[in-house]
Amino acid sequence: MYFIANWKMYGDLKSLNSLNKVIKFSKQHKKKRFKIIYCPPYTLLDSFSKKIKKTKIELGAQNCHFEMSNGPFTGSISPSMLKKIGSNYVIVGHSENRSSGESDNVINKKIRSSIATNLKVIFCIGETLIQKKRKLTNKTLKKQILKGLSKIKNSNKILVAYEPVWSIGTGIIPKIKDLDKNVTFIKNVLKINLKIKNPKVLYGGSVNPKNVEDLASIKSIDGFLVGGASQKAKNFIDIVKKTII
Ligand code: PEP
Repeated sequence: MYFIANWKMYGDLKSLNSLNKVIKFSKQHKKKRFKIIYCPPYTLLDSFSKKIKKTKIELGAQNCHFEMSNGPFTGSISPSMLKKIGSNYVIVGHSENRSSGESDNVINKKIRSSIATNLKVIFCIGETLIQKKRKLTNKTLKKQILKGLSKIKNSNKILVAYEPVWSIGTGIIPKIKDLDKNVTFIKNVLKINLKIKNPKVLYGGSVNPKNVEDLASIKSIDGFLVGGASQKAKNFIDIVKKTII
């Protein structure tokens, strides 16, 4: 099971202290099969990287540019810069970036450069509330997958995060039956259309210590992408505990 902490645009050097508890927890349960990946803002990547050395916790970034290494792109960070600073993962296609204009085509370019740089990609997909109401969920998810992952060979480097847009930061989660159906649909598209043998699909959207047991009852889910609840160590540890212990 994967547990990915997306800190979004939150956190400063002081917030790194909260990592001590998570590191301790991860050491205590090192025999259990789970992976914790922290995705702090760019400004904290270096400090995180130093802090998690010699632990099983891994580091990810929240976005990247599509240019692999360098270029005249003011304010951007490339996949190779992320790799050099100790990141092994990068989130691509988060709905908070799609909603400010990131296209499937740009997402595809980012994924290709990231994989070429040897980063693993947490590829976010999800339908909006309007798409859900119009019964366009499957069509939307399939289009995002096929366009986002077009011409990508190393698909074992991809974790798909299914994040219904209407569930992010709202406290609302899908009905368990619907979520199970959607995760199965996504896995089938990955298997049948893209010939990925053992696709990994995580769920993200208002995961918290109270709802995680219900969510974890869905056997096809391979982990969780956690936003708000990952910023407090206790909540994040509780989410992991309730899933794996
Ligand atoms: C996210 O940002 O990917 C996310 C799932 O946020 P939250 O858990 O706060 O809904």
